[in-house]
Amino acid sequence: MTLPGKEATIADVVSIAVECIDCGRNRWWKPAELRRHGVSGQTPLVTLSERLVCKSCRADGLPGRAVAIQAAFIEEHERRRIDAQRRAEREAPLKRSRRA
Ligand SMILES: [Zn+2]
Repeated sequence: MTLPGKEATIADVVSIAVECIDCGRNRWWKPAELRRHGVSGQTPLVTLSERLVCKSCRADGLPGRAVAIQAAFIEEHERRRIDAQRRAEREAPLKRSRRA
């Protein structure tokens, strides 16, 4: 899914599984849910585990930093759909200004 030499970023994934190695808890996150952790579309996937902590372990007074990340990449057709949507968003303001 990723071009050679290009680092995979959050923009390339549909969801991210965060599993805590210490307590075994895991859940799937949508990229949008991770925004409040300072994660954006440009965030490289490899830096995710440094940013995320396990809340359950934190509540127990543990560091909660032993998290494993698993990413589900955007399917090619999904990527095309998003590209079409982005084009539509870019064209929309132009149409409005033409009408005004
Ligand atoms: Zn944990």
